[in-house]
Amino acid sequence: MRVTEVRDAYGEIARLAAELEEQDRKMLAVTDRMIDLEQVLRRLLTVHTGECRLDHEGFCQEHGFEVPCAVEVARRVLAGEAL
Ligand SMILES: [Zn+2]
Repeated sequence: MRVTEVRDAYGEIARLAAELEEQDRKMLAVTDRMIDLEQVLRRLLTVHTGECRLDHEGFCQEHGFEVPCAVEVARRVLAGEAL
């Protein structure tokens, strides 16, 4: 193996390592954002503690949001259900 090939291989390894580090940084930022959003959602649900009361058209009269009730959706998401 020639010296230039070894140098190129090390350069490629260094480039890939930097790329992996950047991906890790981005994943940590996404994880931090998800944690923040979950905390905000849990705090929001401490305000809306009542059970849903749906009218004949499916609108929640307790929380006054759209269909489906945003509070119910938030509760399901925090319980781990897929939307
Ligand atoms: Zn509701």
